[in-house]
Amino acid sequence: MRHWTAECIYRGEAALGEAPHWHAESGRLLWVDIERGEVHALDPATGEDQRWEVGTEVGCVLPSRRGDFVLATRNGFQRLDPETGAVAPLSDPEAGQPNHRFNDGKCDPRGRLWAGTMSDARTPGAAKLYVLEPDLSVRVAVSEVTTSNGLAWSQDERSFYYVDSPTFRVDAFDFEPETGAVSNRRSVAEFPSEGNVKPDGMTIDADDRLWIALFRGGRVTCVDPHRGVELGSVALPCAKVTSCCFGGPDLATLYITTARTGLAAAELDDQPDAGGIFACDVGVRGLPAAIFAG
Ligand code: CA
Repeated sequence: MRHWTAECIYRGEAALGEAPHWHAESGRLLWVDIERGEVHALDPATGEDQRWEVGTEVGCVLPSRRGDFVLATRNGFQRLDPETGAVAPLSDPEAGQPNHRFNDGKCDPRGRLWAGTMSDARTPGAAKLYVLEPDLSVRVAVSEVTTSNGLAWSQDERSFYYVDSPTFRVDAFDFEPETGAVSNRRSVAEFPSEGNVKPDGMTIDADDRLWIALFRGGRVTCVDPHRGVELGSVALPCAKVTSCCFGGPDLATLYITTARTGLAAAELDDQPDAGGIFACDVGVRGLPAAIFAG
């Protein structure tokens, strides 16, 4: 088992930093502050962070082939023009459920956008994982979800990994890349429920290993999904670790998002970098992040 320590590279003081995505085209890390309804783009080389206000909670941001950003928000899927900051609605599959919002999302290797929801009350089974197709139609991929979170696809496009956080598991599905169909759900990693440390966002590396953020756990864990074995751990100096992705010019840096939300004043005194963006060289490269094909 390997151990690393992540370094804070940007003290963003996010309420709920999430959904990092390495935007290779601009050399910037896209990320969101869900609770503040903000999209961010951090240039790690300069430390400059650009911000767009969405006007509602935003669970994830993905660049699109046409050059804008696609968001999954409390008001459904939206497009953000990064030049003007204008936000335009696309579609809202849970429009009749104002107490639901979109949470984490990511594009599959064929450019479909997968994003899941959660209810404010975390009602068990009330949420779903949706797919926004490049033709802008929306379908349900997984039903009876509670808090939809991390997503990852294997390099061979044959496996889809998924976290519904209250299950304390990472599940795998068989993935059919041509159609985007998922089947044969099974558990590949399980976490103890003690301390309410939940698996949150995740990414996959070029060696087919999952890097899973542990919310309240103060670390990212590296798991081999084929054997269900923990191979390594990246420690952070704050408890609420939310998600991670590989980035940088050669995809050799693990970038990690964190949160301040719900921490008491004394905890914030002990965790001054909570809500920041962290980085760590873990000796392995990631896979290029897919963008939305529509
Ligand atoms: Ca999350």
